[in-house]
Amino acid sequence: MSIAQALLINHWIAGEAVESASGRSGPVWNPATGQQIAEVNFAAVEDVDHAVTVAKAAFPAWRATSLSRRSEILFKFRGLIDQNRERLAEIISTENGKTLADARGELARGLENVEFACGIPSLLKGGYSEQSSTGVDVYQIRQPLGVVAGITPFNFPAMVPLWMLTNALACGNTFVLKPSEKVPSASLLLADLAQQAGLPNGVLNVVQGDRIAVDRLLAHPDVKAISFVGSTPVARYIYETGTRNGKRVQALGGAKNHMLVLPDADVEAAADAAISAGYGAAGQRCMAISVIVAVGAVADPLVEAIRKRIPKIKIGPGLEAGSEMGPLVTREQRDRVAGILGGVNSEGATLAVDGRDEAAASREGFFLGASLVDNAAPGMRCYDEEIFGPVLTVVRTRTYAEGLKLINENPYGNGTAIFTQNGGAARQFQFDVEAGMVGINVPIPVPVSYYSFGGWKSSLFGDLHMYGPEGIQFYTRSKIVTSRWPDPGTSKVDLGFPQVR
Ligand code: NAD
Repeated sequence: MSIAQALLINHWIAGEAVESASGRSGPVWNPATGQQIAEVNFAAVEDVDHAVTVAKAAFPAWRATSLSRRSEILFKFRGLIDQNRERLAEIISTENGKTLADARGELARGLENVEFACGIPSLLKGGYSEQSSTGVDVYQIRQPLGVVAGITPFNFPAMVPLWMLTNALACGNTFVLKPSEKVPSASLLLADLAQQAGLPNGVLNVVQGDRIAVDRLLAHPDVKAISFVGSTPVARYIYETGTRNGKRVQALGGAKNHMLVLPDADVEAAADAAISAGYGAAGQRCMAISVIVAVGAVADPLVEAIRKRIPKIKIGPGLEAGSEMGPLVTREQRDRVAGILGGVNSEGATLAVDGRDEAAASREGFFLGASLVDNAAPGMRCYDEEIFGPVLTVVRTRTYAEGLKLINENPYGNGTAIFTQNGGAARQFQFDVEAGMVGINVPIPVPVSYYSFGGWKSSLFGDLHMYGPEGIQFYTRSKIVTSRWPDPGTSKVDLGFPQVR
């Protein structure tokens, strides 16, 4: 029986599955069938305390483990994830609804983070200045923080946990992960594989649950840092509460990613990109394109090219061969998106393709067809809200400057993209635009693992982006050592402030 089929899903603490003390639990759905497939235990405060105590106890030995050994374990972890790709992809698809191909893609991007962390011996190198003063050397070392926690969303059940835990563990921290209660199983398998790779028990723990678990992590004095990925209101709450409690916090929030299409763009290529980035994973990616800003005369042919492609998208269960777009994650989310679509025309925009037609009629699960909204504008719900569903919204502008202003005035600043054949225009956009990740003829510019991931404005609260070099910075404290080995014969009393010249 796979983990996803087990009736009751537990926590993973000190290297084994642990039942909850809370007596509370929640349903886990298969979004493709609309059926409940399991029940997941929700942690009580005592469960979180147990996990943090175990992680704290594991910290001294893990911190003292050599860099080569940590790297060796991460290499083995990488190999085991690779060997279990299909099993993991199946679990992800079953609980989240995304297609198997998409789940495999998520795993491939997650593996990149493991590969990056395997280089920890080089990544933790500090600087060394010989002879900063006469006979004095100064050097920097980076040390782990202690117990750190990760709180993750439903839309990347494996990749986002891997963004966090790989670098945190490589740096010598111990980790408590609180995955989304909608997709609890992938994290458990990852924890199991990490143990098989040789990670000592207690170094990586998983607590399942909801706000009670999150609030305890935010309050627990032994949790030194929190990494969060999820929606903006929760990200803001996590950042404000965590920092008030003295923790280091990086909290990545929601998004409304704009794709600016200039009149000189290749319309067919732009339409292909919009379809792929807007409807892939049923629009439930934080880097999905949700708004197309069509500049000038490109609007009519672009809308037409997108409209023509929509009926060709193969909608079906993620596990079914050939499916290109699966269901939404929950019934509530499907109904919420359908509700937004229902208000489009009365708000003054045009519902050019209505995904509700295709949707519910023929299928049991939480399906919705791809929708296209034209003539949208700020002030309309379809533009203002993060929809997080298979909806592309087109805003028409007359000029590049108008389009840029629209993007820069949007409260979110996660990803954005420009489609053009003009290098100068693209260079100007890269210079002007207020977003953390920019694609030039690339619709989903998720940075590779040796750069860092993060948005601007309401898409990220905190100072450091996630994974890559900034991830290493986030999970370590810098210590500067000033050292002298004097000849005792030259020692004298000097009450003056230390000078270096
Ligand atoms: P969510 O904010 O509902 O949940 C994220 C996590 O927070 C879950 O573990 C959940 O249990 C917990 N949580 C939810 N409500 C809480 C509360 N009131 N107090 C404390 N904890 C709470 O997000 P989601 O629906 O799982 O994921 C989708 C959202 O995540 C979208 O907004 C998407 O844009 C965003 N996202 C952002 C990025 C990014 O990199 N910026 C990446 C992936 C997803």
